[in-house]
Amino acid sequence: MLEILLARRFLLGKCRLTGDQLCVIGSYYKNRSNETIRGKRCENMVGAMLGDIIGSRFEFDRSPKTKEFDYFGRGSMYTDDTVMTVAVADALLEAGPSPKEKKTKELLVRKMKLWGKRYINAGYGVRFYDWLLSDDESPYGSYGNGSAMRVSAAGWLYETWEQTRTVARWTAEVTHNHPKGIKGAEATASVIWLARNGIGKEEIRSYVEQEYHYDLSRTCDEIRPNYYHVESCQKTVPEAIIAFLEGENFEDVLRTAVSLGGDCDTLTDISCSMAEAYYGLPEELRRECVARIEEDMLDVLKRFEEKRIARKKS
Ligand SMILES: [Mg+2]
Repeated sequence: MLEILLARRFLLGKCRLTGDQLCVIGSYYKNRSNETIRGKRCENMVGAMLGDIIGSRFEFDRSPKTKEFDYFGRGSMYTDDTVMTVAVADALLEAGPSPKEKKTKELLVRKMKLWGKRYINAGYGVRFYDWLLSDDESPYGSYGNGSAMRVSAAGWLYETWEQTRTVARWTAEVTHNHPKGIKGAEATASVIWLARNGIGKEEIRSYVEQEYHYDLSRTCDEIRPNYYHVESCQKTVPEAIIAFLEGENFEDVLRTAVSLGGDCDTLTDISCSMAEAYYGLPEELRRECVARIEEDMLDVLKRFEEKRIARKKS
């Protein structure tokens, strides 16, 4: 009970907590949740990929600007968001349960370049494309929304909030080391961690506003009319979080995200990564997603799920 009170006070901005206290609260919520979240089967990273695939044909301001649309159609395909989500997951799996910064960053660079070159036509931004093909492994100061779209594995893999945020930061820093790029990754992974540990939406909203100072006071109806394609974290992540907070179930979050427009595959990827952690994923949509990705991506997903199950049993 003390953990709940402490968590609520922190999330509502009424107190600050030490790292140890956050870990205790994280463990409490972790123990409270189990194989199912809010009665639905718990998934992993498929939500992000599904959001990418469904959002893909609405990218570049082709959003219907309404929640009424067919999920799949001509042009529905995985894009760079999915490829890099897999690359980050692959790197974090190899880094192990207690990752060290230097080794993890080396793995992230190696895996991003490996997967990126393997699927070189997946639709990367110009600067990231150049980085992929270059021998240079240093970051380039980006605040693009790529740091947030690929981070979901970090939201799922770790027991504590602190470790989640730390590893999310590393995943951004290897390329998107601008403070706004790092913030987008940290905020996204944090929301996934909070959601999968049973924390409510109002607490999540308070947490994000306090820690990351994103403006979450707007509604989707206010955002939608004047929101167009933009590839920055600061103009994608807050909108994706608002779509997640407004949606009433997984599919409503998905439809709300697409209806906003913007960088539609990436925004929907981010919203759905959070919705999956909060609601679980409808089985039919999970099947549709895995049918649309490559065998080697499925192998990573399988290893990812095995790791999570092994950890739950230990
Ligand atoms: Mg994309």
